[in-house]
Amino acid sequence: MPDIDKIQSVVDSAYAQFSKTPGGANADYIPFLANIPSNLAAVAVVTAKGQSVAAGDAQYRFAIESISKVCTLALALEDMGRQAVQEKIGASPTGLPFNSVMALELHGDKPLSPLVNAGAMASASFVKAGSVEERWQRILGMQRRLGSKEIAMSDELNQSEQTTNFHNRGIAWLLYSAGYMYCDPMEACDVYTRQCSTLLNTVELATIGATIAARGRNPITGEQVLKPENCPCIMAEMTMEGMYDSSGDWAYNVGLPGKSGVGGGILTIVPGVMAIAAFSPPLDKVGNSVRGQKMAAFVAQELGYNLYKA
Ligand code: GLU
Repeated sequence: MPDIDKIQSVVDSAYAQFSKTPGGANADYIPFLANIPSNLAAVAVVTAKGQSVAAGDAQYRFAIESISKVCTLALALEDMGRQAVQEKIGASPTGLPFNSVMALELHGDKPLSPLVNAGAMASASFVKAGSVEERWQRILGMQRRLGSKEIAMSDELNQSEQTTNFHNRGIAWLLYSAGYMYCDPMEACDVYTRQCSTLLNTVELATIGATIAARGRNPITGEQVLKPENCPCIMAEMTMEGMYDSSGDWAYNVGLPGKSGVGGGILTIVPGVMAIAAFSPPLDKVGNSVRGQKMAAFVAQELGYNLYKA
């Protein structure tokens, strides 16, 4: 791994070159997200040894949104094991948008990927819990153990999502009717909506990735959060479905597992080495941060990381 000064200079350069790239627009189907200042931008690296560097608005706390699916998948794997997750939720890309109902029609109502809305709600329903509060606290607890104990739900964002999540409620009922919901479907949708409504900063997002990069050991706190054997499953899912409909393009261009969220966050992981996180609200057509993709890809390329490069 390059020394930390080199990583800092690459991160600074990514920010300088791409933090003002024009194009894209904030997500507006969640009212809270439409109002976040579009000019915010940050990029950060946390290594598997716990060193960290950042540039830009790296302390700004933004909505985790879809990146929360990585943490809930991690908890489902810890609770139920990789085979049960594969059988009861699925492990293959849908090839369709993240909230597609058609994806269910095509595959006998099986959600397939834990990183699309259907599979994420099925995952939330699959974790062990005796009540809605316990389900929520365990999922929030996993975000905190992977990232930072400062990660917390925004009541305002949660309210904004809970009052507009009709499409996800529809998906939850379809899954229930097909036997792919493992608790009350509205409980799963409620908890899923809360898990999307937590706020974190770019360094904390990179820490989530660094924990997965470091075989499940949080390099900042030293806690062994995940079983090492679950980490490759998480990264495989990120590669196949993490960057919405352009997951294939990300694999082709960058060659690393990635996950983005409609809050403008991007996380990409170099297994065993580090995670790169970036944030900026304007999204492209499929839902990935325009500047975040450029900043994260630049850091990976400049440092020479691509899993498919010999
Ligand atoms: N809460 C959002 C939804 O379910 C998250 C979407 C995303 O970031 O992809 O629609």
